[in-house]
Amino acid sequence: MSPQRRLGLRNKIVVVPMGELDYSMVNKLASRLVSYFSVGVDVLQGVKIPQEALNQQRGQYYSTVILTKLELMKSAPGEKMLGLVEEDLYIPSKNYVIGQADPAGRSALVSLFRLRRENYEMLDEAKVLYSRLLKESVHQLGRLWGFKDCRNPKCVMYLTDDVYEVDRKGNKFCDNCLRRVKVRLK
Ligand SMILES: [Zn+2]
Repeated sequence: MSPQRRLGLRNKIVVVPMGELDYSMVNKLASRLVSYFSVGVDVLQGVKIPQEALNQQRGQYYSTVILTKLELMKSAPGEKMLGLVEEDLYIPSKNYVIGQADPAGRSALVSLFRLRRENYEMLDEAKVLYSRLLKESVHQLGRLWGFKDCRNPKCVMYLTDDVYEVDRKGNKFCDNCLRRVKVRLK
C-alpha cells in the first residue's frame, strides 16, 4: 500500500482550468493526481478567469480573489478545488506567486505563467512544463491535506519561488512530511 493510500485521503479533487489552457496537459495532470492522492478527480470545463481578480495597474490577477471564487464553485463540502490559470498571479506582499492554497477553504490555485520561464537545462519544453505543473499542483494540494512547507530541497513541499528551484526539487513527499501528516490525521 502506498503511503498516500495509507493516509486515507477520501475527498475528491476538482481540477478547474480557468480561461484558455492546454486540455491535454490538464487531463494528464488530472489522471496523475488520482494515483497521487488516491481520490477521484473531476475536470470542470468552460470556466473563465474571474475578471474582478485582475489588477489593471499590476497587469496581474489577485490570487486570493480567485481562490474565493473556486470555493463558491464547490458542489460538495468534501471537494478540493485546484484552479489552473495561464495568467500571472500576485498577493499584495509579493511581486508574484506561482500558486496559493487556502487550507481552511480547501481550494488551491497554480499559474503556468512563471512555470513557462526558460531554464538553461530545458530540453523538452512540454515535458518540463508538465513536470513543473505537477510539482506545484501537488505542493498546493498537499497544503489542503495538512502538509506544511518543508526544508528538504528535494521534497515536493519545499517552498519554491522560481523555476530553477522547482526543477531542482522532486515530485514526491519526503519521509518526514509523510510521517508528520500521518500523525496529524490520527
Ligand atoms: Zn518534506
